[in-house]
Amino acid sequence: MPHAPFELTQMAVDIVGTSPHATNKIAAALSGKDADGKDFVISRTNFYPPAIEKAFGQEQKIGNASPTVHAEMAVLQAAPRTEGSAIAITDLFCPNCAKYMAEAGVKTIYIDHKGLDKDWANRNGEDFEDMSMRIVKHAGINVYVVNRKKEELTPIFESSSKYAPSIENPIYLEKYNGPAEIPAFMAFVAERKAFYKDRPFAAAFALGGLGNLYAIAADEHPSIGYTAKTLEEPEGKYSFTLQPLNRLMLAAKRHGLSLHRNFLYVSRTPTGRDLVNAVGADLTKFYIGDRERSRGPNSLAALEMLEGAKVIEIVP
Ligand SMILES: [Zn+2]
Repeated sequence: MPHAPFELTQMAVDIVGTSPHATNKIAAALSGKDADGKDFVISRTNFYPPAIEKAFGQEQKIGNASPTVHAEMAVLQAAPRTEGSAIAITDLFCPNCAKYMAEAGVKTIYIDHKGLDKDWANRNGEDFEDMSMRIVKHAGINVYVVNRKKEELTPIFESSSKYAPSIENPIYLEKYNGPAEIPAFMAFVAERKAFYKDRPFAAAFALGGLGNLYAIAADEHPSIGYTAKTLEEPEGKYSFTLQPLNRLMLAAKRHGLSLHRNFLYVSRTPTGRDLVNAVGADLTKFYIGDRERSRGPNSLAALEMLEGAKVIEIVP
């Protein structure tokens, strides 16, 4: 790793004050290797996607989702490639970000020790213990608390190097040799639809290095390491399942790819959380199979809000 835990954590701490969030200022720094094997380090704070903030401000929920992109998702989407990366966070991570980091192939998480004492940690400590940590354990991610001043690294969880988490339905990813054109994309979508049958999924063209085009698809899926059988139904607002659109965004980053903003299909209306994250990553144009289908009524409400404000475009 080019950056030791203390420097990486310091990088996140250095920018946390620039977070636009009034009360929950959070930052993350990520170190990894790009597709050419070159080391990189980046950092991001949580943020409001500008188009959403302009249309709805900072308080209005999008469906039932907050209008913020969490720092972990922000840094994962800004990275050139996330497989095997290390991430340092100023705070405890929420169950959604735990699933995102698992899908992105993050190997190690560092938490600044000051994050454990914050108000947010006190309010959300239960979610962290009950869900976030269980998710990253299933994914085989190491988690440490970092004390920068004392240069102390305290393990919360260390995964066995022999542990290989199960993935029931791996993502579909193939190099695509045809042109990036709508009929070719629709043929790919139809082929995936036949494969996934009634299961919700998302599909896209993605760009890799050297301008190479890829076809990528993912269905709704238990967080890595869980299966449909071992999946627990938790109480509260979080679930152990990762929705197709966000799964696709993270799987692409894991492999060093960027989703093509003109070729993005979802079989049903995505959740508000998925949509906010997508807009934050500048993905605003969607082909939708059946917009009347969704995970719940909040999803369609979110879609209609964003569509009505012209933040996103649904291709008929
Ligand atoms: Zn989060």
